Amino acid sequence: MPDKLTVAQARDADAIGREVLLQGWVRTRRDSKAGFSFLEINDGSCFGTIQVVADAELTNYESEIKKLSAGCSVSIEGLVKESPGKGQATEVQATKVTVHGTADVETYPLQKKRHSFEFLRTIAHLRPRTNTFGAIARVRNCVCNSIHQFFQEDGFLYVHTPVITASDCEGAGEMFQVTTLDLNNPPRKGSGVDFEVDFFDRPAYLTVSGQLEAEIFACGLGKAYTFGPTFRAENSNTARHLAEFWMIEPEMAFCDLAGNMDLAEQLLKRISRDVLDKCREDMEFFKERIDKTAIATLQAIIDCDFIRLPYTEAVEILKSSGEKFEFPVEWGHDLQSEHERYLTEKHFDSPVILYDYPSTIKPFYMRVNDDGKTVRAMDVLVPKVGEIIGGSQREERLDVLEDRMRQQDLNPEDYWWYLDLRRYGSVPHSGFGLGLERVVQFITGMANIRDVIPFPRTPGSAEF
Ligand code: ATP
Ligand code: MN
Repeated sequence: MPDKLTVAQARDADAIGREVLLQGWVRTRRDSKAGFSFLEINDGSCFGTIQVVADAELTNYESEIKKLSAGCSVSIEGLVKESPGKGQATEVQATKVTVHGTADVETYPLQKKRHSFEFLRTIAHLRPRTNTFGAIARVRNCVCNSIHQFFQEDGFLYVHTPVITASDCEGAGEMFQVTTLDLNNPPRKGSGVDFEVDFFDRPAYLTVSGQLEAEIFACGLGKAYTFGPTFRAENSNTARHLAEFWMIEPEMAFCDLAGNMDLAEQLLKRISRDVLDKCREDMEFFKERIDKTAIATLQAIIDCDFIRLPYTEAVEILKSSGEKFEFPVEWGHDLQSEHERYLTEKHFDSPVILYDYPSTIKPFYMRVNDDGKTVRAMDVLVPKVGEIIGGSQREERLDVLEDRMRQQDLNPEDYWWYLDLRRYGSVPHSGFGLGLERVVQFITGMANIRDVIPFPRTPGSAEF
């Protein structure tokens, strides 16, 4: 019996001399005048394909092999040999080719020509078979693995926070409502809908962040992190926003803003190192075809010290930059993507951690500074993508936190459990949220965030 190998294993010179079984999809077929055919097979185990030589003596050569085309699925049995060709160590001399599924050349959407990413989004069920999306899937997988390893090695607990919630953590009102009420005929109370008879006896939503619940675990068990889906009904249609994305949220007790920045920087360095180590071939492809600076950008993350800069100083830099921005820069306003990119790409040419933002533009839970005007917020900005991480030291003082809630028109009673963390054994603590898709976008250089998640959810789009 032949050994079942992946294409990645069969491409390795160590496999030479072995009788193997390979299973995958045909990328191309070329027929030689000398009476045999070359098949390029990919199975997703790596970026590259393996060349299979199929002789005319094979029983199904004329009936099946000579009809193989892109997308057909096959099992190949044969002998791994040293390849005389350039750019590959091995090839497989087939002794048996079994065709499982054909793919009609006339109708199979993935032809050899280059397709636009917009078109590929319309065939999200087939795009994993392309070079680009195979590479993205492997990089994304590597990033997730790297993140879990980083936290596990550092003693963080992986906690699962709820997807359905009754609190709006960001206070931004960009939430999807979850209800079992009949929308055609909802029960009424006064002038509005009676949510007291809804499934949860109150309005409920899909979560925009697991932070508040992660804080519960940190304030009792030390260090925790979440890694889960997050939902935001932002109707913004940008190249950096999804309605459903994955967020990583570490939370640490006895940790201030400086410690929080250290963790964020270490995490991004670790991810970069792991991707360069484990996805070299995929990264070479991104460098070649998507973004010339892809590998240099990762190396720079590993090598440099991130700039740390107060928001107020960033505003001064932007104001005196002489740059023509679409949106004006004003202390007290959120920075726009163009401002963030100016700082990371032009002014510093480095990742930048901005901190101490005006309290008026940040959520209630961020710790108020002694100046009374700013809070211990931090955003990590990187070239091309802009904000990749948002975080803060949390307000641990009960009275200050309650004041901040009232200022933002939140009712402290609704957050009684969150306030209890400050009532009983309160500790300084900090954490942040890292958007998985923004990281993958940053690493691969892909221009649109819709192309780094398997099945993007955006306004007007939830196919597949
Ligand atoms: P932005 O200003 O870019 O909208 P934000 O300030 O709303 O980001 P946070 O609430 O701090 O972001 O969320 C933490 C992280 O989650 C962000 O730094 C980003 O990486 C990611 N993120 C936020 N919103 C989205 C989204 N709609 N799609 C994908 N990732 C997102
Ligand atoms: Mn946002």
